[in-house]
Amino acid sequence: SNKRPQNTFKSTCCYCGVGCGVVINKEKNGSITLEGDKDYPVNKGMLCSKGLNLHYTANDKTDRLLYPQMRYNKSMPLQRVSWDDALERTAAIFKTFINKYGPDSVAFYASGQCLTEEYYVVNKLIKGFIGSNNIDTNSRLCMSSAVAAYKIALGEDTVPVCYDDIELADCFYVTGANPAWCHPILWRRVEAHKVANPDVKIIVVDPRVTDTCSTADLHLQLNPGTDITLNHAIGRVLIENGDIDVDFVTKHADGFERYSKLVFERTLAESAAICGVSESDIRLAATYIGEAKGFISMWTMGLNQSSVGVNKNLSLLNLNLITGHIGKPGSGPLSLTGQPNAMGGREVGGLANLLPAHRVLTNPADRAEVQKFWGGTEIAAKPGLTATEMFEALNDGRLKAIWIMCTNPLTSLPNVRLAEEALKKAKFVVVQEISNKPETLAYADVILPAAAWAEKEGTMTNSERRISYLSKVLDPPGEAMPDSEIICRFAKKMGYKGFDFKNAAEIYAEHAKLTGKTNIDISGLTHDTIILQRSIQWPYKKRNAAVGTPRLFTDKQFYTTTGNAQISAVPDAHTSETTDSDYPFILTTGRIRDQWHTMSKTGKVNKLNQHIKESFVEINPIDAAALEIKEGDVTIITSRRGEARVKARLTEQIKQGVIFVPMHWGKILNNDLHRINNVTNDALDPISKEPDFKYCAVKIEKY
Ligand code: SF4
Repeated sequence: SNKRPQNTFKSTCCYCGVGCGVVINKEKNGSITLEGDKDYPVNKGMLCSKGLNLHYTANDKTDRLLYPQMRYNKSMPLQRVSWDDALERTAAIFKTFINKYGPDSVAFYASGQCLTEEYYVVNKLIKGFIGSNNIDTNSRLCMSSAVAAYKIALGEDTVPVCYDDIELADCFYVTGANPAWCHPILWRRVEAHKVANPDVKIIVVDPRVTDTCSTADLHLQLNPGTDITLNHAIGRVLIENGDIDVDFVTKHADGFERYSKLVFERTLAESAAICGVSESDIRLAATYIGEAKGFISMWTMGLNQSSVGVNKNLSLLNLNLITGHIGKPGSGPLSLTGQPNAMGGREVGGLANLLPAHRVLTNPADRAEVQKFWGGTEIAAKPGLTATEMFEALNDGRLKAIWIMCTNPLTSLPNVRLAEEALKKAKFVVVQEISNKPETLAYADVILPAAAWAEKEGTMTNSERRISYLSKVLDPPGEAMPDSEIICRFAKKMGYKGFDFKNAAEIYAEHAKLTGKTNIDISGLTHDTIILQRSIQWPYKKRNAAVGTPRLFTDKQFYTTTGNAQISAVPDAHTSETTDSDYPFILTTGRIRDQWHTMSKTGKVNKLNQHIKESFVEINPIDAAALEIKEGDVTIITSRRGEARVKARLTEQIKQGVIFVPMHWGKILNNDLHRINNVTNDALDPISKEPDFKYCAVKIEKY
């Protein structure tokens, strides 16, 4: 890396969890250009439309927040203040609430886009010094069901496979995901593998015909919410066909007998009818899986964002476990992380129910160990408020102050008008942001300008446990500051010791030390090693070793108490709200190819806005005809919570009785009717607390 000219920097794309490597060139005029890093193992030079346009987002500073702003009371306007004034007053207000109402009266709501170092300091601040576990992130809306299921099935929140297993697999089961649009570069690898090896089988499970289906050998267009029934039915056929790894299920897994009994409780005909797919297609899927030497299951929000998200995940993991397709080349479950660093956030324990390095919050010894290491206050035993629970607590007055960093909940939360009411009622709102666009800013008492991608250094972990280093290439505009520095300065204003880090490398060193002797041990890792090796997959114990751990469980030793993987006999009931004559349609939401989340970055790029210019609703032509809705008509979609107004797109690619609207659009010029999260349901999975974004009952009418 020393040989590179000084105007060239290596980094990682800040959008999806694929984690593509980029090479950034700094031009003489101070702007940047970039290209895919040909030497990077993830993307080998490729970038998708979002990654290719990252430099536009970085170069365009027109929407950037440049200095701290504050209002002295709710009826006064925001005014420019110094960093010291903003942080001192915020600290004084936080202290007042903590003294008067206790530490649980304040909360931090952060993001899967934060760097690991940023997560680390904010988690340390609230858990270790304020004494509350009220920190959650938008990862709660994203991967928390997968996390809980991994813990149950494997004893640890970990992805067993690596991307290089793709080229070693001969069957892919892609469910609740549209990777062709949402994890494009990873999908390019699957497509290229299929082109080179036409016998490779791809099964896609989705209520919609997506771009991902164009490469599929089999598309199971199931009824929304019936994933568990389908996975069980496939499990049943695998058992009938004798395609079970008997050695694995007897020696290395528990629960096969109960599972086997359960999946035979429904006939295949019954399951096929529930799922809305044919018996022969279920058999074919099972045959493809049963004949595979290497079998990879891939999934994302279609399984996770559900009121039975954990059970959906477990029913899928079962397919890998009963066939023994785990811990060997070309085989295993590969959850596609939605955000670039959701995994890094979990490593530092940055969720309301976690402790650093995947320690257990409810375990007193784990709490005591972390407290001793940090040297702060006693860590509370009670899990903190999760994402949606924070806004409920603001609404009913339990929570007084919220600090929102790097996320825009007023577009992204389900039943979002309730969250909006909550921010109106909040006694004190801090928003730490890069852009002046997010709706959340309208409710801020303090606005703190943050440095953006390429304006700060740090690390992220992608979907295959690969930790990479992101270079600082540009100075932040105005007085904007890296998020970790903002949090450390605030912690010092609160009078806390332990936040005197000189740079991100020092924060990382402290985090790495805390992982020693855990399952995710990276105690041998430093920023210097990551920069030298370019990227490393955890666990990584030995200082300066050239490789980390590409694949886990090769010894068939799992992190569960028995050492065996757990096959779970989960019920296939789904608990989403029911359709009726008032709300006869099922609404599902998702991403489009060229936008990222709430569009504060990708929405700035003309090229990306060209792909799909405005929000829309996909509806089957037969449903549309019955409602006299024509292509391009404005429709109004109403649920028991709220309504949204978008134009109709008639397509046979969606099942009758189901409609789809993208999640990206929020308020436009104060009009909130493009915002589909007015309509979505905030019902939660009881274990993961992940909301049921993918299923709610609605009516749709011509406006
Ligand atoms: Fe970025 Fe994901 Fe596209 Fe790669 S696939 S360039 S990480 S958005």
